[in-house]
Amino acid sequence: MVRSPIKKEPDAVAITPFKRKLCTPLTKQKITVLQINLGRRCNLACTHCHVEAGPKRTEELSPEICEQLIEVINRFPQIESVDLTGGAPEMNYGFKLLVEAARDKGKEVIVRSNLTIFFEPQFEDLPEYFAQHQLRVVASLPCYLEENVDKQRGSGVYNASIVAIQKLNALGYGTDPKLQLDLVYNPALPKNEKFSLAPNQQKLESDYQTYLSERFEITFNRLFTITNIPIGRTKQYLQRQKLHNPYLKFLEENYNSTTVLQLMCRNELSVDYLGNIYDCDFNQMENLPATTRTGDRLTVAKLLEAGSLDVINEIKTAAYCYGCTAGSGSSCGGSLV
Ligand code: SF4
Ligand code: SF4
Repeated sequence: MVRSPIKKEPDAVAITPFKRKLCTPLTKQKITVLQINLGRRCNLACTHCHVEAGPKRTEELSPEICEQLIEVINRFPQIESVDLTGGAPEMNYGFKLLVEAARDKGKEVIVRSNLTIFFEPQFEDLPEYFAQHQLRVVASLPCYLEENVDKQRGSGVYNASIVAIQKLNALGYGTDPKLQLDLVYNPALPKNEKFSLAPNQQKLESDYQTYLSERFEITFNRLFTITNIPIGRTKQYLQRQKLHNPYLKFLEENYNSTTVLQLMCRNELSVDYLGNIYDCDFNQMENLPATTRTGDRLTVAKLLEAGSLDVINEIKTAAYCYGCTAGSGSSCGGSLV
């Protein structure tokens, strides 16, 4: 029997270290955003998930770290926004405690919700809870077409998301200025080297508005387009397809220096469920911790001890940072320029 030849992996193309591309070190500005990743528990297990969350994961915030975070929220008026993510943040310990502590201090609270959580037992009250506490909801809807969403997130997710948005709309989300609902688009994972960046955010927002309003009478405030960052499951997928290095090169080739001033890592702290601090959620997932000027690893306890949030000088970067600076740029709040 003649065996088929082994496919040769293409030679890796050199990627310019991100730090070198920047020319000057990436420094922090005053911290105004506290992003908390409450844990890995999630009712979904999406193929592109950079957190590798899912129903079988059990890691979540402990009462001790939750208390420390509440102290940070209470002690530092400079925090304008508390951004809760996960997994499904609502499923993890401390969600309501953090929401209420932050809202008591008048801070904006963002919940990054997958929407389908509204239909899980014990979570049916969430839409009303969100509205009561005026949470800003940022929800993933990677396409306005059913087939594409279900391919990425699982069968039935599109319909569940639509019904969930209709529930939020009925409570005033999307129309009441105090109840903001934003949707998130991320491109499908590439199948070959024909990579593309996320489409123009404004244009796509208008397409989403038209389609969702005509089909389902849905309204929302903003659409955020987010680039697939090559970490977590996305990285594993790209590696399996032998596309990881070419994708990084593609992102590097689309480097846009004007995005750098707007990068989300400049004014945020990202906290994991163990209380460790990172410059952003992506660094958190890749275990690239933030350090002080003297090189010490930071934790929430250390910030409280220091009595300051502004103790990081240089932001830690890696090759995947090219995902944030390609084209119009990308962040948890959509395109940057
Ligand atoms: S809903 Fe979000 S956190 Fe959960 S698996 Fe999907 S991408 Fe990951
Ligand atoms: S991944 Fe993006 S947000 Fe995170 S440190 Fe790099 S450039 Fe900043």
